[in-house]
Amino acid sequence: MFVMAKKIAILGSTGSIGRNVLRVVSSLVAGRSSPGKEKTQFEIVGLSAHRNVELLAEQAREYQAKTVAIADEHYEKQLRKLLRGEDVEILSGAESLEAIAKIEEADIVLSAVVGAAGLGAVLAAARCGKRLAIANKEPLVIAGELLVREAAEHGAEILPIDSEHSAVFQCLQAGKADEVKRIILTGSGGPFRGMSAEQMEEVTLEQALSHPVWDMGRKITVDSATMMNKALEVIEARWLFGVEPEKIKVLIHPESIIHSMVEFVDGSVMGQLGKPDMCLPIQYALTYPERVAGIAEPIRLEEVGKLTFEEPNMEVFRALSLGYEVAGEGGSSPVVFNAANEAAVQEFLDGRIKFVNIVELIEACLDKQEYKKDLSIEELLEVDAWARRKVIEWVNEKV
Ligand code: NDP
Repeated sequence: MFVMAKKIAILGSTGSIGRNVLRVVSSLVAGRSSPGKEKTQFEIVGLSAHRNVELLAEQAREYQAKTVAIADEHYEKQLRKLLRGEDVEILSGAESLEAIAKIEEADIVLSAVVGAAGLGAVLAAARCGKRLAIANKEPLVIAGELLVREAAEHGAEILPIDSEHSAVFQCLQAGKADEVKRIILTGSGGPFRGMSAEQMEEVTLEQALSHPVWDMGRKITVDSATMMNKALEVIEARWLFGVEPEKIKVLIHPESIIHSMVEFVDGSVMGQLGKPDMCLPIQYALTYPERVAGIAEPIRLEEVGKLTFEEPNMEVFRALSLGYEVAGEGGSSPVVFNAANEAAVQEFLDGRIKFVNIVELIEACLDKQEYKKDLSIEELLEVDAWARRKVIEWVNEKV
């Protein structure tokens, strides 16, 4: 029997998530179908990167993508050279991401860009009524309300890839929306779990980049060390699942086996378990509502032995308490929160500030902002640019 292929466009295909998406697609295409099910076919129709032309060209050839986009236009010439003779359309510039998101034949647009740079493309995919599989949490943090509204108006489906939100999404299948008491987001606690504020004063970039459980891109790895990642996830969950921040709890679970939970009104708690491996949530977003055999290694709980939980230390990990405040305030606050973080993390990665300065800079930006509600997309981008400028100004004054 002839089975139609699902066509996928990937934004950020050269990153940590993007590469895993292609691994999952290869395994699904090569794999045997699950008993009683047709094998699902996948086809890659669009790919994008920021500057990594070599890998993008390699992926384009291997997956026979029809369109590729390089966001930094300085690399276009090099990409054309690398893809000479191939039957592929080449786009460049920041706006080319949107063109990939709007590819007409794409059934699924998977966003794995890092940071707010993915916002325009994610909104474009929602407006085209696509299935939007989203790892890129920053657009949901800064424009979650708008994104969810646009998706509903245009019949787009948003499926989370972030492991915690995929877990919540899976647990929610066990009940109705009005039966949910609260969402419990788990987190490993990152490399500095248990440290005091004084001990954190002297941590190095190398230590911040050594995550105890997950192997991820540099920005999210630093976000995990500050626990900013968990703060962004609270805001992300608020919009994805339509729940107030007070109904979202963060629980530290160092083994990272339960990826998150949902507590229902009758007291039942549903959790989703698995080895820490992004291939599982990626695959679920691609095959939903079906489940098929995949590459994620099965878990053996007898080998895990015990699962432990503790409350997060909101005083030491100030980013988390700020995240709750910002989630409650809405308006310009999450935009400032996210943009100041992106700029400060970049300064930290460039060796210009200390680890503890990241959250200090975010807090200073939040204090100095002119709070606004109901922002248009243009206003939102202005606020985002203001916070980035402020961080750079302050760092330049100090170094
Ligand atoms: P990476 O830094 O590994 O990859 C980012 C991707 O986005 C790359 O393809 C990169 O291109 C591209 N990119 C970067 N900047 C721009 C830009 N300005 N314009 C266009 N494209 C750009 O990030 P991750 O894969 O780790 O993370 C991606 C997203 O997924 C983040 O939002 C993160 O929070 C989220 N996430 C990641 C997880 C993980 O396990 N890594 C887990 C859960 C969520 P190039 O390679 O050319 O630089």
